[in-house]
Amino acid sequence: MARTVLITGASRGIGAAAARRFAEAGDRVAVNYLRRKEKAEGLAAELRKKGFQAESFQADVSKEAEVCRMFEEIRGAFGPVEVLVNNAGIAEQKPFADITEQDWERMFQVNVKGMYLCARAALSGFLQRQAGCIVNLSSVWGLTGASCEVHYSAAKAAVIGFTKALAKELGPSQVRVNCVAPGVIETDMNAALSAETMEQLREETPMGAVGTPEQAADAVFFLASERAAFITGQVLSPNGGFWI
Ligand code: NAP
Repeated sequence: MARTVLITGASRGIGAAAARRFAEAGDRVAVNYLRRKEKAEGLAAELRKKGFQAESFQADVSKEAEVCRMFEEIRGAFGPVEVLVNNAGIAEQKPFADITEQDWERMFQVNVKGMYLCARAALSGFLQRQAGCIVNLSSVWGLTGASCEVHYSAAKAAVIGFTKALAKELGPSQVRVNCVAPGVIETDMNAALSAETMEQLREETPMGAVGTPEQAADAVFFLASERAAFITGQVLSPNGGFWI
């Protein structure tokens, strides 16, 4: 049965690949974005042209009023959100000593507070229906830690704690909460890394490759599917063997 799926940060990268994956499966897809209106609208239009249901919705996930407005707009267009993919995220490479208080706060506002606000906005509908599903994007760095990415690693580790605690709390209401912690995926997020660093990451990966957005999106789609009906509070890490 078609579900209303909100994917935050779906204008590009893993979120855009997930939007395609859910739309192709027949779901109604809300494509959230922050600034790249053209990309988000272009993706939604591309999906509609293929006969799928998709609309774009602007909101900064770190701002409560914007998140509430977005959920209302989605409800008006598609009905209440049934699957929430908390994918919007930012990363930054900096030595620990150079991370400012502002850097730290923004990292947690987008990557952690954004999830909290979206999950809270979805909650009343989930509880009413005694059904729902949340998939949060962490990172392999949230599991292992990355040098020169202390604030990113800490935020992504927080996502795992958030996932496990919420899964325990919402399990009795038949709401599943899981987490995807990808290894290195070829998206704009890694555009700042040098070719040399990317090559090194490939070499450190047993499967000898970095991942594609589609491979990460497949893990998200699986956790949101009926095939994962008895899976909650788990971390699935598509990473080519980078971290086992
Ligand atoms: P990306 O290509 O940099 O895209 C980021 C997306 O997040 C964009 O759609 C962007 O919107 C949106 N976004 C950023 N800040 C936002 C905000 N405040 N409110 C709403 N949307 C916001 O990222 P990606 O590589 O696809 O990563 C997606 C998720 O996977 C992130 O949570 C990331 O941490 C995680 N992840 C990525 C990798 C990797 O190697 N790429 C590995 C592990 C985990 P605009 O386009 O409008 O700016």
